Amino acid sequence: MIHIANYIDGKLVSPINNQYLDNYNPATGKVYSYIPDSTGDDVQLAVDAARKALPSWSNLSNIQRSKWLEKISSGIKAKLDELALAESIDNGKPLWLAKSVDIPRAVDNFKFYSTAILHYASESHHTAQGVINYTLRKPVGVAACISPWNLPLYLFTWKIAPALAAGNTVVAKPSEITPMTAFLLTQICEEINLPAGVLNVVHGLGISAGNALISHDDIDLVSFTGGTSTGAHIAKIVAPKFKKMSLELGGKNPNIIFDDCDFDKMLKTTLNSSFANQGQICLCGSRILVQRGIYERFKTAFAAEVGKMKVGNPMQDDSRLGAIVSKPHYDKVLSYISIAKEEGGKILTGGEAVNLDGENKDGWYIAPTIIEGLDQQCRTNQEEIFGPVVTIQAFDTEEEALKLANSTMYGLAATVWTTDLNKAHRMADGIKSGIVWINCWLLRDLRTPFGGMKNSGVGREGGWEALNFFTEPKNVCIKY
Ligand code: NAD
Repeated sequence: MIHIANYIDGKLVSPINNQYLDNYNPATGKVYSYIPDSTGDDVQLAVDAARKALPSWSNLSNIQRSKWLEKISSGIKAKLDELALAESIDNGKPLWLAKSVDIPRAVDNFKFYSTAILHYASESHHTAQGVINYTLRKPVGVAACISPWNLPLYLFTWKIAPALAAGNTVVAKPSEITPMTAFLLTQICEEINLPAGVLNVVHGLGISAGNALISHDDIDLVSFTGGTSTGAHIAKIVAPKFKKMSLELGGKNPNIIFDDCDFDKMLKTTLNSSFANQGQICLCGSRILVQRGIYERFKTAFAAEVGKMKVGNPMQDDSRLGAIVSKPHYDKVLSYISIAKEEGGKILTGGEAVNLDGENKDGWYIAPTIIEGLDQQCRTNQEEIFGPVVTIQAFDTEEEALKLANSTMYGLAATVWTTDLNKAHRMADGIKSGIVWINCWLLRDLRTPFGGMKNSGVGREGGWEALNFFTEPKNVCIKY
């Protein structure tokens, strides 16, 4: 079985303590590889390597750094099939999804920032005759990047690419639940001879390797994507040191469906926005709010379509849903279904584990689940479940929809379905979330600001936002 290696100072290395954690294939429930159980000692080596590499990397021209990013992008593209298979095995997501979304997006993340950095510019201000101000933007330094398990390589590279493009060096820690594609990425970096120390990847648990990284005094900023409680913990450690911090956290997103929507388009997209990646996308719409005039029609049609969605072996092309990422997460999602029942929720479809046979008999599968009859204040409608579970609630007026939409501590994304342009703009204006999709979902343009309000995070990724985050602005005022 493969022993995953850390990538420190340009070399693939074992953890200093030689301790490993089990890595599971969620589709079979079996251990299939081992992950370094790294500690602060490995983090120390990685931070030292990143610090040593910083002057030469940050002094490269933008064109030179752009070329390195392009090489990484091409390296990922050349191994798309291998990486997609690895992602599917590690995460439980359908192979077709990893092939069509996760890995192409990792290719695009490096490609996008390889070109973005060529066009990135800072401002100058003509103040008066003989006075000019300009903004000098320089890399911040050593960036600590930490990512979650739901879109492993996609989100890992979404941080690393702009950090490196802007001239920072990086110490990154992928989720210990899905480390494999980050390991394969480091093999690509080794193959293309990326300069030593520019990117360092330390594998291991959040409480040990992750905590050592964000607590390290010699990192200059933290870019984190993960759960809200982890984000709060990181903020407590990093904020008093006055380091830059970007936190992309959880969500409980509303999907608001008005009577006047294009019903067929809405229904097709709502199947995806509810259950893509087994509902384990921070942007999934887990609270479906439906205007009363089409509530019964929607409920019947949606339940019928969801009932047809196949939960199956992630390797099969017709599996719409694969496995839940880990046993603890599977238990968590099932426990929320029990909570929903205790709260008086009525299960319209699903509501239980799915038992497959053969090699998948010990895998972790849950049927796509629709629950109705719960009010907005219950735990099911307030807490992030992050699985194939949605609730539906009826509303009458636009004001009521907006109130329901904004009635959680989260504010990551929202979807609105209406053919009334004015209503669409009013809703977009009133919803308190970082992203609002009107008549679509997960349509991404990498130039746009990405992130959440309220307890969904602090800061934005994407486009210039990320390059601004990964650079330190300095005002220079000249009188001549
Ligand atoms: P998590 O917070 O448990 O872990 C995320 C990462 O943080 C992992 O790499 C983990 O090892 C690390 N970590 C954990 N404790 C740490 C600590 N004390 N110090 C440093 N690092 C630590 O989250 P998860 O379960 O992996 O991911 C699911 C969560 O991520 C959900 O809440 C989801 O909504 C959120 N998410 C948000 C976005 C977004 O863009 N806003 C995107 C994807 C996922």
